[in-house]
Amino acid sequence: MDLGITGKWALVCAASKGLGRGCAAALVQEGVHVVITARGEEALRHAAVELKALNRASSVRTVVGDITTPEGRAAALAACPQVDILVTNAGGPPPGDFRQWDRDAWIAALDANMLTPIELIRATVDAMADRGFGRVINITSAAVKAPNDILGLSNGARSGLTGFVAGIARQPRLAGRNVTINNLLPGPFDTDRLRTTLAGAAARSGQPVEAVAEQRRKGVPAQRFGTPEEFGAACAFLASQQAGFITGQNWLIDGGGFPGTF
Ligand code: NAD
Repeated sequence: MDLGITGKWALVCAASKGLGRGCAAALVQEGVHVVITARGEEALRHAAVELKALNRASSVRTVVGDITTPEGRAAALAACPQVDILVTNAGGPPPGDFRQWDRDAWIAALDANMLTPIELIRATVDAMADRGFGRVINITSAAVKAPNDILGLSNGARSGLTGFVAGIARQPRLAGRNVTINNLLPGPFDTDRLRTTLAGAAARSGQPVEAVAEQRRKGVPAQRFGTPEEFGAACAFLASQQAGFITGQNWLIDGGGFPGTF
């Protein structure tokens, strides 16, 4: 299927690795020009070389910076001639016990996983509406639907973003001008983030990391972790011309892990 987005520009945040990179790869394969950001220059440069190899016709620009800071967001936005497709993403907050999280821990989580996407949406959607095309895809988490107690900072911050998106996605000023805003909710995907989480769980339980990973895999109905390529394909579809009637939705991509009918 031709997704009809060749030649569009996408800003894909936090995309040197993992899910962000999976999204950038799928978009580049569709002929989209991308600006990718990350804090580490070397990994970002490496990702850009690999992305470019996927499709020589797509431009791949890199911006080194922390997307959770005003400077990082300004640099990312300045590098993108126009943002037709916005993929918001940043590292997830650390797991822990809510008794240990003070105000600073909460502010950091809200900054990264709620206020940064909101600021980027605020900076881009009205111009998208003026042009008559825009796609915003926020990478959130399956924890928004199925909260995990040790991920309280993530549950809280991402739920705030989800509530915000549910409201603004339905504004006729946006939805009526072909601007859609949706969230992708990853379950367990095979990325550095998952490997870190598994290592932490192994350390806490005193089990080998492979045993913890195997247990976790067996808990997924699909009996495996997802891949960044699968995640990227869903992102590219939401960014497509064909997805123009899908807005304000939360797509769970979790191999069947959420045990509900809806
Ligand atoms: P990852 O650690 O594999 O990759 C994260 C990427 O984001 C890297 O490129 C890193 O450099 C970049 N990054 C992190 N913080 C940044 C910042 N402040 N500014 C710029 N770049 C930054 O992680 P992932 O697995 O791809 O996860 C992406 C998001 O999805 C995270 O918020 C994570 O919590 C969430 N998530 C992941 C899973 C999973 O199983 N992988 C499940 C649920 C939610």
